[in-house]
Formats: sequence, structure tokens, C-alpha cells
Amino acid sequence: SRVMELDKMDENDWKYHGEGNKSLVVSHVQHARVLRLLKYSTEDAENSHKTTEQAFHHIQNIVDYSQNVMKPLLGEKFVHNGEAVKLPLDFVRQLSLKVQQERPESRCDKVMDTLSGCALCLPNLTQLSCCCCCREHRPPLCIEIKPKCGFLPSSTHVTKDIKSKVCRFCMHQHFKLANGKWKRLSRYCPLDLFSGNKQRMCLAIMHLMEEPQNNFNIFKGGECIYSCNDDADVLQDLDDLAQHLRPYFLPSGSLISRPQPSKVVLNELIQVIVSALLSSWDCPRSGQPRKTHLSEGRVTCEASLLPRDLLRNGNHGLPKDCVLDKILGTQMLDSLDIEGLNPLFKRVEQYLQKFPKERSRLQIDGPYNQSFLEKVQNCPAEDDGSVEYAVGKVHQYRVAMTAKDCSIMVAIATCGEDDGLDQSVEIQPAKPRFNYSVSILDLDPKPYESVSHQSRLDAKIVNHYLRRTQPNN
Ligand code: ATP
Ligand code: ZN
Ligand code: MG
Ligand code: MG
Repeated sequence: SRVMELDKMDENDWKYHGEGNKSLVVSHVQHARVLRLLKYSTEDAENSHKTTEQAFHHIQNIVDYSQNVMKPLLGEKFVHNGEAVKLPLDFVRQLSLKVQQERPESRCDKVMDTLSGCALCLPNLTQLSCCCCCREHRPPLCIEIKPKCGFLPSSTHVTKDIKSKVCRFCMHQHFKLANGKWKRLSRYCPLDLFSGNKQRMCLAIMHLMEEPQNNFNIFKGGECIYSCNDDADVLQDLDDLAQHLRPYFLPSGSLISRPQPSKVVLNELIQVIVSALLSSWDCPRSGQPRKTHLSEGRVTCEASLLPRDLLRNGNHGLPKDCVLDKILGTQMLDSLDIEGLNPLFKRVEQYLQKFPKERSRLQIDGPYNQSFLEKVQNCPAEDDGSVEYAVGKVHQYRVAMTAKDCSIMVAIATCGEDDGLDQSVEIQPAKPRFNYSVSILDLDPKPYESVSHQSRLDAKIVNHYLRRTQPNN
């Protein structure tokens, strides 16, 4: 049965769910569906004049890219298919008015596209329950993590030594603080999350909780209950979060006398998140899963605030095929770093100036099909001077950018009968069991043109960091 009958769309069936830089998301009040609508900045005349056909093509490109390119790279089980839809314009206009008051002020520099009527329809990943027994039970919890880039570049094209010591996220934090994007530095370092060492991973998630910025959200029954709050009293917020989590993690009254119940509850949640992030569903549970991406090079970030000894000994590598392994492997398709890629981008640009018709054969703007994926996967390892090599590398870089920008959704549901625990006389009640499902979202193609922007941004971030931390050099 179709959830959406396009001729009967009613804005009262939908509510504001969230938004990023590029899109605004509304969720259905009953069915586990979301609509993702594009946004554009008010000065962006080009986008506001897009025709319906152009907008639909753009969204269809997102669907194709996610399905034909990112899904094979990230794993079938993590990526959900979306559908491009054309909505009644009246519905979209009413919806836009309805959600406007819910939008955070910091996002209001852009407006929702109400002209094309096009949107992306997706399953609501914050409402996925993993089995039928969970459904009537407690509402599912869902944790969204935007992990960002999990490795240090080892490319010989890197000119600034600092880039092989301090990760991009940590450098970018200083840049954003200076530019007023955030009021406080985050202590999160992606290299800790991707380390595969449980202790480091737990601390990384704790740091995300303390300063979520736009890298961490928690949903309960589809409602956001924890996210970035710039004026926040962090401790109060964490206490409120613990109140929400208590029924999931401390089901009986027996632990009430333990000190720092908030801390206990938050630690329980973090443990479950780490397990979900390290799970390899393809591997049998027994036996040592194969570890990958245990690179010989540096795997810690000098800016990470974790204890030195933990950093020194704490890189265990990731189990093969866990969600973090899949994302990291795809991010590492950026093997040359922007500094090595930029000359290849220029080679493509020059070639296209001479042969503009080649743009479509080289699939610069899609279509994102099997043949595009082959260009990404079969790019030669050595530069033979060809435009094909250069295009392959640019495609790989763009795919890696998508993987550096995606979010992981970990949906958690309690499973089995823990209701009896209240009567239990056991001193140590059985721990509640959890079912989790893991998905990846926000898999848009990054525009070909963004390469030159990335190149300038990289230089700005690195120079700012060097000035901040080594003012005398
Ligand atoms: P970014 O600025 O990170 O690139 P974006 O503009 O591309 O973001 P998304 O990340 O796709 O937009 O969506 C914005 C937010 O909406 C997400 O962070 C997530 O909280 C929520 N969201 C998006 N898709 C879904 C989904 N399928 N189910 C549930 N929530 C979703
Ligand atoms: Zn770092
Ligand atoms: Mg996003
Ligand atoms: Mg995005």
C-alpha cells in the first residue's frame, strides 16, 4: 500500500523533523516516512529559477548516486533506497509556512524550495523498529552520528606537515570558532571514533555528547530529544538526557542507590552505540573478525585530548564490514589529498575547454550508473597522463567527500521481557537486551565544481591552524 497518495497530500500529516545545509526534512505523523526537500540561499538566483524538470532531475540524480554508487561501496544493508516525487505545489507552500517557526534561526539563511514541488521520499530511519516485539514496547531510540573524516592523509602531495599530524576535523574546529560558527571547541576527534579501540571510541562518543554541534543527535520515537544547543548548560542537558534513557538502561529500581546514576545510564548507551558501530553482520559471531585499515602510518591525531598512552596503544583496527570500516574505506578513496587532486582537476578542466562535448562521455555530472561506479573502482593506480586517469581521481575524490559528510543512524530497541525485573529479587538484574539496526544517510553527490572551493578552504583552514598554534613560525 502506498503511504503517499500524491493527490491527497495534507500538510497536517507532516511535521518538521530536521535540516542540514542542503535540505529540510519533514516526517509523517503516522507512517515511518520522511520527505527531504531541497533548500537554497535567497541570493542563489540560479537555483530559484530551476524548472520542475531540472529540480526533478537533480533529485533523481541523488537517488541514482545513492543507489548505484554509494550503496555498492558502503554495503547493501546500510543504505536505503529513496524515491524522487513530485508534490502538489499547494501542499509544499502550506508545508513551508507550517515548518518555518520550527526551524532553528541559524539555518534560516536558506529557504525551502517551494517552487519545483520536487522532493526525496525516504524511510524514516529514526522510527525503524528492528523487530515486531519492540513496536509496542518502548519507543525506539535512534542515535545519529556525523563522524567526518577518520584518517590522516598520507599522500606525498601534502605540502604542510601539520596535515599528517592533526586531523582535518580538529583543525576545522579552530577555524569555525574564529568565524563564529560555534561558541565552544568540540573535544571529539574522528580518529578516536574510527580507531576500533573501545575505550577510545567511548570517549569519542562522550565528547560528541558533551558538544554535539551538528555531529550528534538522539531521537526517541522519532522525536529529537538531544541535539546542539549553543547556549546550553551541558551538565543539565546530559542530566535531562539521562532521565529519558533511564527506563531503557536501568529498568528496575535496584540500581537506584548507585552513585552518579546519570553517568551509569550514559555509559550504558555509549556501550550499545559502540557495539553497533563495530558489528559485522556478515561475519559469524564467533572467531576473530578480520581487521582492516590498520595503516602503518600515524593513526592518532595530535590534537586529540585523550591520554597519551591510550592513543599510543589504542589502535585496534576496525572489524571488516562494520559500518565504520565501510565508511572509512570509502573516505580513503581520497588517496591524493586535495593538494594532489587539484592539478588533476585542472587537467580535466583544460580538456573540457578544448572538448566540451566530452563532458557527457566522462560523466562529469552523471548519470550516476554502473558505468560511473566502474570509473571510480577501476581507476588506474599510476598517473599515465590521460584525462581518464584525472577524471577517475576526481570521481573518487567526490565519492570520498560524500563519505566524509554522511551520517550514521543507530536505531536501538529494547528486546525481550524486562518488565518482570521490578519484582526480581536478584541482586544483579539481567541486563536488558538490545536490538539495533544501523543505516547511513545523506549520500548526495558533491558537485564537480566543489573541488576548487575545497582547495581554497583547505589552505585557509591549515593556515589558520598554524597561525593559532604556532604563531612564531
Ligand atoms: P548536511 O548539512 O549534513 O549535508 P543535508 O542538508 O544534506 O545535511 P540530511 O543530512 O540528509 O541533509 O538531512 C538533515 C537531517 O534530517 C539529518 O541530519 C537527519 O537528522 C534527518 N534525516 C534525514 N534523512 C532522514 C531519514 N531518512 N530518516 C530520519 N531522519 C532523517
Ligand atoms: Zn583530530
Ligand atoms: Mg547531513
Ligand atoms: Mg548533505
